[in-house]
Amino acid sequence: MRKPKLRGLLFGAFLLLLLGFSGAFLGIAVETFTKFYYVETIHNLEIKAGLVTREVAPLLAQKNHPGLEDFCRALAKTAGARITLILPTGQVLADSEDDPALMENHADRPEVMGALAGSVSTAERFSYTLHQNMLYLALPHSLPLPSATTVVIRLAIPTTTMSRSLHHLYWRFGILTVLILMFGAAYGLWMAQKISRPLEDMRRQAARFAQGELDQKIAPVGLEEINSLAESLNLMAAQWHERIQAHVRKQQEQTAILTSMEEGVIAVDRAGQILEINQAARKFLNLDNPGVRGRVLAEVVRNSQLQAILTRTLSGSTTVSGELIIPGEPERFLQVQASVLRDAQGQDQGAVLVLNDLTHLRRLENLRREFVANVSHELKTPITAIQGFVETLQEGALKNPVDAKHFLQIIEQQSRRLNTIIEDLLSLSRIEQEAEKASLALTVALLQPVLGSALALCQPAAAAKKITLELACPGTLQLPMNDRLLEQAVVNYLNNAIAYSGARTTVRLEGEMIGSEIAIRVADQGPGIAAEHLPRLFERFYRVDKSRSREAGGSGLGLAIVKHIVQAHGGRVGVESVVGSGSVFSLYLPANR
Ligand code: ADP
Repeated sequence: MRKPKLRGLLFGAFLLLLLGFSGAFLGIAVETFTKFYYVETIHNLEIKAGLVTREVAPLLAQKNHPGLEDFCRALAKTAGARITLILPTGQVLADSEDDPALMENHADRPEVMGALAGSVSTAERFSYTLHQNMLYLALPHSLPLPSATTVVIRLAIPTTTMSRSLHHLYWRFGILTVLILMFGAAYGLWMAQKISRPLEDMRRQAARFAQGELDQKIAPVGLEEINSLAESLNLMAAQWHERIQAHVRKQQEQTAILTSMEEGVIAVDRAGQILEINQAARKFLNLDNPGVRGRVLAEVVRNSQLQAILTRTLSGSTTVSGELIIPGEPERFLQVQASVLRDAQGQDQGAVLVLNDLTHLRRLENLRREFVANVSHELKTPITAIQGFVETLQEGALKNPVDAKHFLQIIEQQSRRLNTIIEDLLSLSRIEQEAEKASLALTVALLQPVLGSALALCQPAAAAKKITLELACPGTLQLPMNDRLLEQAVVNYLNNAIAYSGARTTVRLEGEMIGSEIAIRVADQGPGIAAEHLPRLFERFYRVDKSRSREAGGSGLGLAIVKHIVQAHGGRVGVESVVGSGSVFSLYLPANR
């Protein structure tokens, strides 16, 4: 059912009161005025009757009855009332309206009876003579001696005259009441609206408060009580607004902290449902869907190690740590530290898990292990060879000078190789260290002299194989560089090109500007490299053909050194090759810092 509105109630009550008061006022006014008018009319009639008595008294005393008739008629006109003179017997002596001879005996008329009893009497009734309602007033008049009879002098006026005047008055009262009602109703409506409108506004604003628009305010209105209610509501809203803002700020801070943390953080309740999970944790656990809050962690991440850690923590252990392997490409290694989550009262609420990504560390460890194994292997080959030939010499080969010379040459060659490997390893670690510390000093210098000097260094080796070396580089090209290292990189490229190419071929060294980079290329006409080797070519100790590399005296580190030098210059390496036609090794360096 629809609830009544305040405005309707107020207006209704006011209207009801107004109607009651107006009705009562109208009733009392009508009654008072009717009574007053009646009394006044009777009083008037009495005065007129007194005057008539004074006029007719001489005629009555002279017993001039025929004269009375005309006299009554004339007087009645002046008095505006019917005049009747009646004898104590009830016989009508004279009447201003009718012939007394034709009129019936009036002894039974109440007013006549009253007058004969000695007092002024009134009566209201229908007159059969005049055929209308009349108001009668009769008074006794005693004739002087000797007759000493009492004549009743009666005056009558039609009640219609009185009621006409009263009706007129009633109409005025009616109109006045209607006007009062109309003005009163209009005032009531205005007043009801004045009270209900601010309340309605306040209700609307309170609804807005409920929807969270707490920064709005209720405007003050003219009524004191409503104003103070509005002020209280505004104050309450402002306090809530401040509290909510503080809460939001705190939450934003927390979110910012959690989001910017490199560690993954997961909070779960006692049932294992996720309360909070940050971006890092989602990334570590491969949870792309951000809507995992509220779900059970064990269902979202199916990992028995994680489950075991969580179960132990939730069953009361204070801190549990362990490691997880999250399968995927690449496989991820996580270290988990789980603690009991307690509220302000120290009650257990669940657990907090902090995840640290160990993948990179593990990969480095693996790389280190692999590297140590590779280095050991690389060193072992020449050392084994040297040991073998030294033993052979000790066992008697020394006595054969030809063999001894040959073996010593091999020992020298292998120790040279050993030296090359060690030198290359040392320069690799030096470049790495310099690049890591960002201490590599780069100065802007011309490129052509560097390329020329690299070419000159490789000239003897090229000449031994009758390989032609060509250089093409504009003399104006310059770039920020460490000339010693850049020269070494180009020498490594050139050495490879010479080592792996056949005799009487050409190796071309070029330098050119491409966009904002300077490209340095070494193109040979060698055997070329199959496409499947190209992605791994620049790894340490990676060789396409191991025996050929060893034959060429390579350490397997030449291209790795080039890559590190180029990276230290902020550049990149590239290789294109066609098996049977040759290879082009490139390095691209930024022309400006
Ligand atoms: P290495 O000391 O063995 O030459 P590098 O790191 O310099 O080691 O080169 C790695 C491998 O790349 C070499 O073993 C060789 O198989 C291949 N390679 C390098 N440069 C060339 C080239 N110009 N032509 C063909 N193969 C090459």
